[in-house]
Amino acid sequence: MATTGKIISFRLPPLPTIGEIIKLYKLRAEKQLSQNFLLDLRLTDKIVRQAGNLRNSCVCEVGPGPGGITRSILNAGIAKLLVVEKDTRFIPGLQLLAEAAPGKMCIVHGDILTYKMERAFPKQFQNEWEDGPPNVHIIGNLPFSVSTPLIIKWLENIANRNGPFVFGRTQMTLTFQKEVAERLTASTGSRQRSRLSVMAQYLCNVKSCFTIPGRACVPKPKVDVGVVHFTPLVGPQINQPFKLVEKVVRCVFSFRRKYCRRGVEILFPEIQRSQLTERMFCTADVDPTRRPTELTIPQFRSLCDAYSQLCNENQNLFTYNFREELRQKKLLRKEKIHIEGYETSES
Ligand code: SAM
Repeated sequence: MATTGKIISFRLPPLPTIGEIIKLYKLRAEKQLSQNFLLDLRLTDKIVRQAGNLRNSCVCEVGPGPGGITRSILNAGIAKLLVVEKDTRFIPGLQLLAEAAPGKMCIVHGDILTYKMERAFPKQFQNEWEDGPPNVHIIGNLPFSVSTPLIIKWLENIANRNGPFVFGRTQMTLTFQKEVAERLTASTGSRQRSRLSVMAQYLCNVKSCFTIPGRACVPKPKVDVGVVHFTPLVGPQINQPFKLVEKVVRCVFSFRRKYCRRGVEILFPEIQRSQLTERMFCTADVDPTRRPTELTIPQFRSLCDAYSQLCNENQNLFTYNFREELRQKKLLRKEKIHIEGYETSES
């Protein structure tokens, strides 16, 4: 039989508005859970468009709440939608949407921080890492207190090609507090350049899409919201274990206004500090008087490679923790004062 080539697109049938759903199920936003909702479907459509062409794709929506973004995803021609929602109160409203889109939507009542996405979608949606991104997407507007730890967890999953990235280079479209979105996309030398910029950009192509003014959310949050799109890179820009990169970048940015030498120093125990710092900069061929914000990702790569070399020579080096040493010293000092005070009062 000849095909007409015509695509039959799915649209949700007429449904109560998001505002009506909120009233119907008494979904008052919990302030202490930083809940705020997007009611304007033109805005949720705009967020979903940032993910690219979703036709026949599998989408995981994180934190659907009353379902504004969920509706836009369902109207985008997807094959499967899985939503992960922690708050039980939203489940009946989401079930209403699932019934309106038969066979398309699956609801998980759970916490996205612990949910295992590896088995969420059929194997046929998997792509080789080196191929283009798979037809699997993550989209979500989560509370800011969840989206930041979550992106750090997912960046580690990208480095290890596990979690949602067993499907290949799964793309993500997520919202963040505007300042965090600016940090994620900040380029070398900019005021917002931070640990998050380097960690995200060494693994992904990170694109700032647009800003949602706080007033577009109900209730209005104190800050504006930034929509960010991530596409994992075929090859990471730093070829070292995630934990090693994270340690070097964290230490360097511990003193963001000082020369980067100051941050590198705390990678090493006091007794070898100046000697190993010297060696690390020499091997990496990086100027120690650069500020952390001025370092490019290739320079971070050289620093990480040099630190890895030093760790290979000294097996205990990687476990050295400056903050822990500081804490121990403080405890010892306190103990000493306590013992001295005791001895004085005894004598
Ligand atoms: N996406 C909806 C919207 O844009 O209107 C709701 C946004 S509201 C800021 C965040 C949603 O994420 C809430 O529904 C909340 O219950 C849910 N949520 C918070 N923490 C979560 C977690 N750890 N796992 C899954 N859902 C979570």
